[in-house]
Amino acid sequence: MGLIEDFALAVPPLIAEPAVYILELFIPDEIVIDVGKKGPVRFEGGSYLYVGSAKRGLRSRASRHLFVSERRRWHIDHIVACSSERRIWWTPYTEGGECGAAHRLSFEHEGIPGIGCSDCRCHTHLFRS
Ligand SMILES: [Zn+2]
Repeated sequence: MGLIEDFALAVPPLIAEPAVYILELFIPDEIVIDVGKKGPVRFEGGSYLYVGSAKRGLRSRASRHLFVSERRRWHIDHIVACSSERRIWWTPYTEGGECGAAHRLSFEHEGIPGIGCSDCRCHTHLFRS
C-alpha cells in the first residue's frame, strides 16, 4: 500500500540506529482524546498510521510505542494506549524524512489535523489508514 512498501517491518531485536518510522495501529472502538488546545478529538475505530523519527535510535522509541508506557507525554501516547494492535515500519533516518513521509501519506490517506507535528510545519503526522 504505497509508502509503507518502502519501509521494513521492525521486529525484535529492534535496531539501535536512527530511523524514520511509521507506527501502524488499530483502535478497536471509538475514542475521544483531549488534544491540548484543540480540546477533545474523536477517533473512530479503525487503522491509523503515525509517522515519526527517532534520531537517537529506533529501539527505545519503538518500545515506547509497542509496549504501552505509563508516561504519556505526547498525544500519540494516549492514542497508543487505546490501541489493540501495533506494528512499526522503519527506514534509515534522514533529516526531515518523517515530514516527507507524512506529505506522501497525505495524498493517500485522510489526516487527523495537528497530531505529532508540533515541531514542524506539517498539517499532521497521523492518518486514517
Ligand atoms: Zn512534519
